[in-house]
Amino acid sequence: MRTAVPLLTQEQVDQLPDRAREVVEYRKSGLSLNHIQGCPLDCAYCIRHTYGLWDQRQPRALMSDGEAVEELVSHRYFQPHVTPVQVFNRATDPFLPAVKRHTFAVLEDLDSRGFTNHVLVITRHQVEAEELQRLNRIRNIRLTLLFTYSGIDDKRIEPYPSSVAAESLKLAGGARPRRYRTILYWRPLVPGLNDTDEHLKTAYELSRHADATVFTGIFYRDQIAAYYKANGLPEPYGDTARRKIVPETLEQRVLAAFIESTSLFRKTSCAVAYAHGLPDYNGHYGIRELCDVCPINQLNLCRRAHQAPTAERIHEVARALPEARGLKVVDITERAAVVSGLDTEQPRYYLQHALRFQVHDARHPHHAHRHGRADIGWKDTTP
Ligand code: SF4
Repeated sequence: MRTAVPLLTQEQVDQLPDRAREVVEYRKSGLSLNHIQGCPLDCAYCIRHTYGLWDQRQPRALMSDGEAVEELVSHRYFQPHVTPVQVFNRATDPFLPAVKRHTFAVLEDLDSRGFTNHVLVITRHQVEAEELQRLNRIRNIRLTLLFTYSGIDDKRIEPYPSSVAAESLKLAGGARPRRYRTILYWRPLVPGLNDTDEHLKTAYELSRHADATVFTGIFYRDQIAAYYKANGLPEPYGDTARRKIVPETLEQRVLAAFIESTSLFRKTSCAVAYAHGLPDYNGHYGIRELCDVCPINQLNLCRRAHQAPTAERIHEVARALPEARGLKVVDITERAAVVSGLDTEQPRYYLQHALRFQVHDARHPHHAHRHGRADIGWKDTTP
């Protein structure tokens, strides 16, 4: 297929930072395809800071869409009908004018192969009615559109207005009938920046247009903190963390503002699964305190699907991955399997999705009631 963004030569690709060259990468919410990289929207907290790609404002392709889909579906981490997939969620916006034809090419290619995997498309951009009609013709993949909305009006942090995503969500949610699902992706929530009662009320009103809502905080990594400091931006926290930050009092205020809602979730996979009437594919049901926001029908779905694997079963699944040879199962409880011996997070996500059960790394213990978030802003850090 013709490329609508410039296609890099092999020599140019070879000069990219290591992680940028990794076109297929397992991230927490799914296997992520990123052969288009570069974004002009300039959100100060962009994850591109951590890939050495911040300066890349013009989207460019590392390969053709056909080659990229082939690389995705032949990847050892890809399991047909099982692995959740995310398209262009790391380095560009899938609905940028130059990027969207690639987005359609990938989605339609995956769909034509008969896969029923979840596919997540996250955008803050404008989406047109005709594009939604085209998305509605997708038959097999379970497509979810997540509209990133923060309500932040400090142009130094987020130059591209959140109101665009709000309008796109309303348009996408209003189409009837439709096969794709819509999520209000309410993030990043930052105390003092976008958490007044008015902000919370506006987000609640907006959530009524979505099939489900997820709220979450900011990934405040070292590279992002350095950018904030160098540019004199108001720093959200005095410290950085490997997990997303959502302070306890903010969470309580969000829950209070959404007391009437039956479709608010802490986890992206929970919202996506709920929107499709399926159990959570990340097995969060084991983390019981996560589910206090969930409607009873969804709880029942997840409860029925919840089954702790045996150590033998975990090893059996891990055998497909050479990099998991050193895997050790440290503990298995109703909450999660705890493993060690994995150098990176990617094989752990593979196990988690294959088993539909939480798999934690012994090096990074999860704290009760913290929902896999950073410790910043929480009083009690007892595991
Ligand atoms: S029951 Fe729990 S795990 Fe399942 S979707 Fe609801 S919050 Fe998520």
